[in-house]
Amino acid sequence: MTEQQPWQWDEATWRGHVERVRAGRSLRPASWPGGARAAVALSFDSDHETIPLRDGETRPGKLAQGEYGARVGVPRVLRLLERHGVPASFFMPAVSALLHPGEVRDYVAAGHEVAMHGWIHERNMTLDPADERELALRAADTLERLSGTRPAGIRTPSWDFSDHTLAITRELGLSYDSSLMADDEPYELLADGEPTGIVEIPVEWIRDDAPYLMMERYGSLRPYTPPRQVAGIWRDEFDAAYAEGGLFQLTLHPHIIGHRSRMVALSELLDHIGGHDGVWYATHAQIADHVRENA
Ligand SMILES: [Zn+2]
Repeated sequence: MTEQQPWQWDEATWRGHVERVRAGRSLRPASWPGGARAAVALSFDSDHETIPLRDGETRPGKLAQGEYGARVGVPRVLRLLERHGVPASFFMPAVSALLHPGEVRDYVAAGHEVAMHGWIHERNMTLDPADERELALRAADTLERLSGTRPAGIRTPSWDFSDHTLAITRELGLSYDSSLMADDEPYELLADGEPTGIVEIPVEWIRDDAPYLMMERYGSLRPYTPPRQVAGIWRDEFDAAYAEGGLFQLTLHPHIIGHRSRMVALSELLDHIGGHDGVWYATHAQIADHVRENA
């Protein structure tokens, strides 16, 4: 039997694809802790060398660009967060954590969250389900061993979410996922129409440094927005979230944002947010716990 084209699918087929993993009830809370007006959840994906490694790119030149994230980016990020007194969530591939175990200890010592981001930044949608599951279980065990705490949540590498990712997330007993984009505010994930109890803390490429600032020497990818303009987009995202009493979530990468000119822009953004009363800064795990109890 030849595979059907999408225009040949019957209703049960196309409906089934859409409903496999879908947004359920909104978990926008009635209020934020301490009567805060809005919430801010900063995250850093500490990929470092794992993106070239994932692609089988083993030559020193590419790896050095990732190494910069651990060597220069992370210390700068940690100093900035300390200066502003704000927590963050660090999503870390297990191989990155094994390469930089002291960095994991630094995150924990500063009160930040360490959460899952794959084994070697693998592309879940290209893996057999058994391989995706085995890598996820191994990554959870590795992060627990290095950080001293079982991770509470997951961000799939490259936000690459397969047909099997949600089942693995449930098997691991995780509290939240932060890889999907069906809302601005947290929501509950449904699996084939059934509530899962898993909180989605949604992301967006708009609130990610990578699309604006990445560079590929022999490809067409070039940074196209100056850092202060990027921060201006995020400032507008924050201002609107604040006006709505919602969540402002941001995804950054130490090897991308950690450069001098970009840290200036990020610092200015945090100054802008810090000029507002009633902002609750929280890790993704804290957001998930709060909205589950208060939606
Ligand atoms: Zn990543």
